[in-house]
Amino acid sequence: AFLPVMYGCNNFCSYCIVPYVRGRERSRMVEAVLEEARSLVEAGYRDITLLGQNVNSYGKDLETPVPFAQLLREINAIPGDFRIRFMTSHPKDATHKLFETMARCEKVAPVLHLPFQAGNDRVLKVMNRRHTRAQYLEKIRDLKALIPDIVLTSDIIVGFPGETTEEFEDTLKVLEEVRFDALFTFIYSPRPGTKAAAMPDPATRAEKQKWFDRLLEVQNHMSAKLHAAYVGKTVRVLVDGESDDPEYPLTSRTEGNRLVRLKGDKALIGQFADVAVTGSNTWALYGEAV
Ligand code: SF4
Repeated sequence: AFLPVMYGCNNFCSYCIVPYVRGRERSRMVEAVLEEARSLVEAGYRDITLLGQNVNSYGKDLETPVPFAQLLREINAIPGDFRIRFMTSHPKDATHKLFETMARCEKVAPVLHLPFQAGNDRVLKVMNRRHTRAQYLEKIRDLKALIPDIVLTSDIIVGFPGETTEEFEDTLKVLEEVRFDALFTFIYSPRPGTKAAAMPDPATRAEKQKWFDRLLEVQNHMSAKLHAAYVGKTVRVLVDGESDDPEYPLTSRTEGNRLVRLKGDKALIGQFADVAVTGSNTWALYGEAV
């Protein structure tokens, strides 16, 4: 289930239209969120994703501000066998307190989608991202120290107006240092009405495509390596559906949201299961329910 906890965004990244079309941040009252979470758990939902354009900024606008970490603790305290996830988080609001809370709350999945968009400080500044590369990397180190098996994913924009080859290469360096499990990558495209849409953009589309392909190559190699390390291990998954592969007829997700294609009985759909991982590729793990 998807559970919206806040709407809008105050950040005004220079390429993004969201604050103009969705307005400023508005958080739902804690009680309303808890009531909805309780009824989802009672209805049998096993995997609940808290949603917000800038979800970890939740609660700052409430009459009595409530930190997002507190909301997580209160949802975690709801009785039942279920997982909690949240997206999308902004690095500037990803605090040590939040990481500690994730580590302590057994229902909060060890996964964080934390967009960094670009690895070069000049580009980050013109993007108005409000964090530097060093600040981002420091947060990742802090999080990994608290949750060593954290699954990390991110968004990246390739070819922001004015980005040079050297600046793009700083993005590759971040990939190599962090070792993300997966990335959502985009070649920059202008959104009319945003500041970035009016910026000079001298790099050609062909050049940007080359950067994009390099980035995918680095990431695919890394994803394949991270996935291969799972072979021989047993992981807990939530079985969430059928696939069209007759050899692995079920699909499932690990706590960290990795796709696992599965041998097993259809009766497992909707259940948590332990799975012996027997194979992997860039995109998925393969296994058998044990
Ligand atoms: Fe807000 Fe995300 Fe858009 Fe930035 S990219 S303005 S944080 S919604």
